[in-house]
Amino acid sequence: QKAEWAQLKTAETVTADGKHFDLAANIGTPKDLDGVLANGAEAVGLYRTEFLYMDSAELPSEEDQFQAYKQVVETMSPKPVVVRTMDIGGDKHLPYMPLPEEMNPFLGYRAIRISLDRQEIFRTQLRALLRASAFGKLRIMFPMIATIQEFEAAKKIFTEEKDKLVADGVKISDDIQLGIMIEIPAAAVLADQFAKHVDFFSIGTNDLIQYTMAADRGNEHVSYLYQPYNPSILRLVKHVIDSAHAEGKWVGMCGEAAGDPIMVPLLLGLGLDEYSMSATSILKVRSLMKKLSTEDMKKLADTAINENISNDQNKALVEANVK
Ligand code: PEP
Ligand code: MG
Repeated sequence: QKAEWAQLKTAETVTADGKHFDLAANIGTPKDLDGVLANGAEAVGLYRTEFLYMDSAELPSEEDQFQAYKQVVETMSPKPVVVRTMDIGGDKHLPYMPLPEEMNPFLGYRAIRISLDRQEIFRTQLRALLRASAFGKLRIMFPMIATIQEFEAAKKIFTEEKDKLVADGVKISDDIQLGIMIEIPAAAVLADQFAKHVDFFSIGTNDLIQYTMAADRGNEHVSYLYQPYNPSILRLVKHVIDSAHAEGKWVGMCGEAAGDPIMVPLLLGLGLDEYSMSATSILKVRSLMKKLSTEDMKKLADTAINENISNDQNKALVEANVK
C-alpha cells in the first residue's frame, strides 16, 4: 500500500471509468503547504484564514496578511487556491476583539456577519487578498452565508476595494472567482438562486450537518445525530450540486466528509467536482477513487437518497458495495 501511495503522489486523480477530479487540501497557515505538496494535492480548497488572526496579538496588518496569502498563492501556482475570509466567532475568539456574550455562539455573531458589520477588518483582508491575486490563481469564498443579500453586500465591498486598487495602479488578477460556503441549510435550499450569483460553492459539511440536524458538532451527548450519510444531508448536497451545474458553476466540499471513505463514493455518484480535505487523506482518497466507477456510484447514491432512510443503512450500503 505504501508503494502504491508513493506512486500516486504525482498522479492525477482518475476514476475507474476515466473521469478526472481535483483533490484539494485544507490548510490553516502557510506552514501547512509542505504537507500539501508532499501529498500531491491538486489545489488548496480551503485556506482557513482565521488562524492568522488567532495567532496574532492584534489584528494582522494588511501587509502581514498580504505576505501570507502571497506565499500560499505563489507556492501553489498554477494550481488554484480557495481562501476563505475570516471565520471568527462560534468557538473561535480573538483576545484583542471582544465579542458579545451570547446564548448560542454558533447561531450568533460570527464569520461574514462580523465582516459585514466591522467593515474595516473585512476591507483590509480583501485588499491583502486582491494584492496577492497577482501571484497565482486565487479564489475567494465567504463563510456562513445565509442570504443572497449577504453575498451581494460582500461582493460590493470586494468590488469597491478592487476598483480602488486598480485606480492606484496596483497589479491584481482580473479573474478572481467569488464563491460561498454552503454550510447553512437556508443557503443549501436556495442553491438554485445562489448559483445565479456566485462563481462556485464549497459545501462545509461540518457546519451543514450541525445546523441541519440541530446537533452541536462538539457535543458528545448528541453526537449520534451527527449523521453525514443521513438522506436529508445527501439530498441537500445533491440539490446544491445539481443547482450549481444547471448554471455552469462548480462545487467543492471542504468539510471532513470530503475525505471520508464512506462519503466519497456517494459524492462521486452525486457529481461533486472538487474534494478538499486534510492533506494526509489525499493519497488514500486518490487510491479509493481509482477503484470507483462514476456510473456505479450514481446508482449507489440514488439508492442512498431515495430508498434508504437512515445514516446507518447508507453506511452499510457503501461498505457492501465498495471494497
Ligand atoms: C465546515 O463547516 O464544514 C467547514 C469546512 O468550516 P469549519 O470546519 O472551519 O467551520
Ligand atoms: Mg464551517
